[in-house]
Amino acid sequence: MDEKKNYHFENFDVSFEPERRSRERHAVSKTTPKVETPKIEDNKNETVKIQLPKMPKIEPKKLVIAAVALLLVVFIVIGFVSCASASDKGNKKNNEDNAMSAQEMTLENAKISAAQYDYETAISQVKSLEKYATDAELQSLVSSWEQAILNLVEFPHEQITHIFFHSLVYEPELAFDPENGNQAAGYNLVMTTVDEFNKIIQSMYDKGYVMVSMHDICTFDEQGNRVDHKIMLPPDKKAFVLSQDDLNYYHVQDGDGIATKLVIDENGKVVNEYKKLDGSVTYGDFDVVPLIDRFVEKHPDFSYKGHKGILALTGYNGVLGYRTDSVYADINDPNLDPDQIEFLQNNPNFNYEQERAEAKKVADKMKEDGWEFASHTWGHMTVPSSDMDRVTSDTEKWKAYVESIVGKTDVLIFPNGSDLAGTENYDSSIERFNYLVSEGFHMYCPVDSTPYWQQKGDNYFRMSRRNLDGYRMYHNPERCEDLFNVSEVLDKKRPLPVPTMEEIYG
Ligand SMILES: [Zn+2]
Repeated sequence: MDEKKNYHFENFDVSFEPERRSRERHAVSKTTPKVETPKIEDNKNETVKIQLPKMPKIEPKKLVIAAVALLLVVFIVIGFVSCASASDKGNKKNNEDNAMSAQEMTLENAKISAAQYDYETAISQVKSLEKYATDAELQSLVSSWEQAILNLVEFPHEQITHIFFHSLVYEPELAFDPENGNQAAGYNLVMTTVDEFNKIIQSMYDKGYVMVSMHDICTFDEQGNRVDHKIMLPPDKKAFVLSQDDLNYYHVQDGDGIATKLVIDENGKVVNEYKKLDGSVTYGDFDVVPLIDRFVEKHPDFSYKGHKGILALTGYNGVLGYRTDSVYADINDPNLDPDQIEFLQNNPNFNYEQERAEAKKVADKMKEDGWEFASHTWGHMTVPSSDMDRVTSDTEKWKAYVESIVGKTDVLIFPNGSDLAGTENYDSSIERFNYLVSEGFHMYCPVDSTPYWQQKGDNYFRMSRRNLDGYRMYHNPERCEDLFNVSEVLDKKRPLPVPTMEEIYG
């Protein structure tokens, strides 16, 4: 079989970030503090709920417009209530104005839905508009979308490529600083720079790639049985899946030219925090999530139904740059690593509960924006070679400290390029597989360089992923040709030659 011939496991992940052994001081059930992260404040009042059009496509720009519209609505209603003497005519006009803006918003959302190949939603949104029955322009818009549906073709699942990145390098001079020795060589090997990433994404967009979710391929019902779904795209488009590993902003990356956190800015958008060497802090688009968010704002047709990438998280340093693991709750915790102690000492006002609440707020916003989360194990654990006790305690820790922030997932993105089997099917003779399935994991992602390799089982789906990093671009530029031209992408600030695994790790 061709797929067997092409498929070979390679140990490519963030290997300079070692495994963290689950600290077994207490059983998880005992250590898990019942952290009730505060419910995100819902600023919408009843009035707002009535006036708001359905907005299935959450677009940050639209949200700002919506927020302004909501304020307007609230203002109008308050005006209405407090000004009883206002003439009926005047009130009616206000209401009409408001209805107009709501209708315009619905139309805007419908156009985004259509751009993202969700014509059914777009059509029903436009048909819900009051003026649809009498507006020839709207009717012709709906006809054009009905026509577009007829032109869609099913994209074959087995041709969906899956690419992944680590945290992007924003300042190559820092990440690749030769004085950083092996760490710099490691970054050169497994990292991609912001500049390279932007060029890769632009090239893929130009070639007709459209970002889909793994869950657009299949999902699993309550009994754990696989249910396949159709991905319908125009004939000139190609589906791909995007993932990012270790979106944790580890302490060891501090000062290495990599973003330090994800936050929500004053416009309600998710952006990066970036700590400069001089200690000052800046905010912007320095890593995959905000860069893709901005790209999709500009090119909605790069995203299938608003879906974005899947983000793999460990837990030992917290998530998304927030120090949410249990050890951070107590500066005297004997399980704290030196870098964690240093962090707590440098942040005397650190509040563990608040940190978790902040992280959850950002994670919720990211999910609203189309992102999904996956387990990368709590301790960056090599699953097949770890004993069952450790697999169990690690999974419990992931659920206690990561799932409690980002929500449930059925996707496991293996650390260290590992997998539970070769190209043969997973089956019930694999103890770790049985356990992980029983814990709700049905989708498994190893690493490979082949454009696509998948395996569908009754109760699981395996999908290999391609690392588009320094190693792959430098050593196998031909394996990137379907996506981009390496000679146009490779960052001039990247030291060459890119080392090999053997040169760094022996
Ligand atoms: Zn990793």
